[in-house]
Amino acid sequence: MLLIRCPWCGERAETEFSCGGEAGITRPTDPDALSDAEWADYLFMRKNPRGAHKELWNHSQGCRRWFGVERDTVTYKIAGSYPLSSGNAYSGSE
Ligand SMILES: [Zn+2]
Repeated sequence: MLLIRCPWCGERAETEFSCGGEAGITRPTDPDALSDAEWADYLFMRKNPRGAHKELWNHSQGCRRWFGVERDTVTYKIAGSYPLSSGNAYSGSE
C-alpha cells in the first residue's frame, strides 16, 4: 500500500485518496479555434510516462482537498506532494 502525504493532513494510506490523473493540463484559452483532433487530444490524450510523473490527487476520505504528487510510475516511490496553489513546491519528501 502506498503512503501519500496530504499537504494539510500529513501521511495517510492510499485508500483515503482518489487519483485525478495527470497534473498540469491547461484548458485551451480559445476552444473554438481548435480542430476536432486538437480538442480530442486535450480531452483524452495523456502522457502515461515510464518514470517520474506529476499527478492530481484528492484526499477524498479526509480533508477533500486536491493537491499535486510527483510519483515514479515504475517504482511507485513518491518524491513529494504540494498544494496546487504553491505552483509546484513540495511540502515534504519521503
Ligand atoms: Zn488531507
